[in-house]
Amino acid sequence: MKSFDWKVVHDATNHNAEESKSTPIYQTSAFSFSNLDDLETYFQPENERYMYSRYGNPNSDQLARKVSELEGAPAGVASSSGMSAIMAGVLSVVKPGEAVIIPEDVYGGTYDLFHQFFQEWQVEVVTASFGDLSELENKINDRVALIYTESVTNPLLRVEQVESVIEIARKHHLPVMIDNTFATPYFLKPYELGADLVIHSATKYIGGHSDVTAGVLVGDEELIARAKKKVIQLGMNISPFESWLTVRGLKTLSVRMEQQSANARAIASFMEEQPGVRVYYPKTLAAYGNGAMVSFELDERYDVHTFFKHLDWIKIVPTLAGVETTVSYPLKTSHRSLPEYLQEKLGITAGVVRMSVGLEGEKDIIHTLQAALQAAEKK
Ligand SMILES: *Cc1c(COP(=O)(O)O)cnc(C)c1O
Repeated sequence: MKSFDWKVVHDATNHNAEESKSTPIYQTSAFSFSNLDDLETYFQPENERYMYSRYGNPNSDQLARKVSELEGAPAGVASSSGMSAIMAGVLSVVKPGEAVIIPEDVYGGTYDLFHQFFQEWQVEVVTASFGDLSELENKINDRVALIYTESVTNPLLRVEQVESVIEIARKHHLPVMIDNTFATPYFLKPYELGADLVIHSATKYIGGHSDVTAGVLVGDEELIARAKKKVIQLGMNISPFESWLTVRGLKTLSVRMEQQSANARAIASFMEEQPGVRVYYPKTLAAYGNGAMVSFELDERYDVHTFFKHLDWIKIVPTLAGVETTVSYPLKTSHRSLPEYLQEKLGITAGVVRMSVGLEGEKDIIHTLQAALQAAEKK
């Protein structure tokens, strides 16, 4: 068995005729056949041919295969974005008239997808506080067809009790789908813990360089075959070049996660020592690290506008997981459309800042934070 780090860098099954070191970009919408018998081979089971890029392309298949190998799942499908990967996964297990349970602190785009799109398509959406697993279990009824959650939530970085959620789902014979975007398979592999489907916004750590929008869904052969049909029918496929860029970024996942997570730990410790700062940083994700996101809440002694203004090279960017350290302001971006009672209940206040920690030296980041805190302190 090869190690995780080996699998991140190498591709066990990918070969190309010219033996080029990196996989070529198959920038083509279709593939050609030399005669009708040749065309017929495409339709044989186990064939390794391609026909039309919306149905499959070597680059998007490579991305899907790599992520499924890292997650320990037998199959995967890549798609145009994290949202389309979620869409394909949900549509492969849930039908109109059925219900889905989601956590109240789910990613904003996912919250809207369920509450706006799926409700319109007659899927009942049940929101529960997953921090209290008895509440989750009490909300299961006959119509529920899927339990959906995230391994680490945004922006306050609650670590889901993935194994307990799976246990509850098993008891009620329900499939579980997990968004593993924040944790990445470097820290957590929900499929190996028993989840049925795992999705990634590969826009984030899988790609890692803020230069693509991409998604991947992994699971067993049967579910992924169903999900892949949705990707094909709804045209949610990812382009060859974006697949290629994502695979290129993915090859450094291990070193990025190790370094960014170490930086994040140092920043969390520094911020914990500052007066009037409440730090949100996971402690239980994995024995060897807790990811590269750190959130903190500044109390009234700080002026938040001034804090952001003095972050110098640390830019406000409403995404995460790049190699550069960035910050976001959840109340006015990702969680802007949440009802006010829920913002309050979840603790997304005017003082909450979310930091995506990059690959700079930890001192660079800490010095800048220190200066911004000093400037923001009300006299
Ligand atoms: C960004 C994100 C998504 C959506 O992914 P896109 O690639 O933007 O479509 C879903 N879940 C989480 C946790 C995310 O951070």
